Amino acid sequence: MSNYNWCHGPNCHTQHTQSRIRGSGDNKVLRTIKIKHDSNYRSHERYSMFNYFCNQSCLMDYIREHLTSIVAIAPRRNALETPIKVKTVKEESHRYNWNGNEHTRVPYMATRTTIESK
Ligand SMILES: [Zn+2]
Repeated sequence: MSNYNWCHGPNCHTQHTQSRIRGSGDNKVLRTIKIKHDSNYRSHERYSMFNYFCNQSCLMDYIREHLTSIVAIAPRRNALETPIKVKTVKEESHRYNWNGNEHTRVPYMATRTTIESK
């Protein structure tokens, strides 16, 4: 297996950056960025998307171009559900009223709803 990937961004080779310039004389080109696996922090995450894309712009270009195909790999045909417990707790809280001259602290009973995993 090679120790690099070419950036998969479909427009990577059209971005006007000095890092993409290759060739000499009148034969210069803008080339897709080569992502080396051992070149930087990206290698810490073996399955990081940035092993395949040089930046977020190239990632989003790829997703836009191939969205239908990507979604077809693992289509979501039904809603997923997570069982939970919903707890409602009454607790003392306060608000501040402004009477035009000063703020006064006004206590009240608040209702707090928490969601817990089952
Ligand atoms: Zn790129």
